[in-house]
Amino acid sequence: MQRYFISFLLTVSSLVCLAQPHVVAHRGYWKAEGSAQNSIASFQKAAQIGCWGSEFDVWLTADGVPVVFHDATVEGIRIEDTTYATLMNIRLKNGEFIPTLQQYLMEAQRHPECRLIFEIKPHRNEKRDSRISELSVELVNMLDLASRTDYISFSKNACKRLHEVAPEAKVAYLNGDLAPKEVKERGWTGIDYNSKVFDNHPDWASEAKQLGLEVNVWTVDGEEALTRFAKMSGIDIITTNDPETLIKILGR
Ligand code: MG
Repeated sequence: MQRYFISFLLTVSSLVCLAQPHVVAHRGYWKAEGSAQNSIASFQKAAQIGCWGSEFDVWLTADGVPVVFHDATVEGIRIEDTTYATLMNIRLKNGEFIPTLQQYLMEAQRHPECRLIFEIKPHRNEKRDSRISELSVELVNMLDLASRTDYISFSKNACKRLHEVAPEAKVAYLNGDLAPKEVKERGWTGIDYNSKVFDNHPDWASEAKQLGLEVNVWTVDGEEALTRFAKMSGIDIITTNDPETLIKILGR
């Protein structure tokens, strides 16, 4: 009897664990001391506090070097229009240089417990969306990171090309303007939508789950919102600027 009771408890506790959403640090854990958005330190720190994944943004320079940075411009220079040589001396807020994708991924290799939530920014045209998607997959495969990399993009072109060149990879769409069914029809594997989209479409999380899509919500900050989404059914992943707060909430 006692044995059955223990196995019952184990089953219940594993279900509780399964129901908990994963924690993704938005642009890495950049609020930590010594960190900055999309810096190499932000990935290290996300891994150190036990984030399931760390999100980062990727652009392609004019001369074809993928770099990790959020905005389209830095110090008034448009990344897509400039060479890497021009960007390489610009420092982030924590004193690091803007990392190339290769530098960033090589650091990620040292933290195998943290997934890469790899955002491809929407580039100027379809050709460049395709090129950055191809180069990204090539580099991820070369560095043997494919099994722990999930791609995300606001660009339909990029999602399409990613799915073509890496049909086994997870590809989630960010823009919130496609119903789960439409995402599924395109062969993509998840929706990664702004929290407002789930407020406006309360059925989308459960619809997506029924279709076998993964559901990620961004960017959820503050204890109240984090608690609300942590309890919401159908949410697999929460992307937040407050990963430490979310980890605490989930641990309660
Ligand atoms: Mg991003």
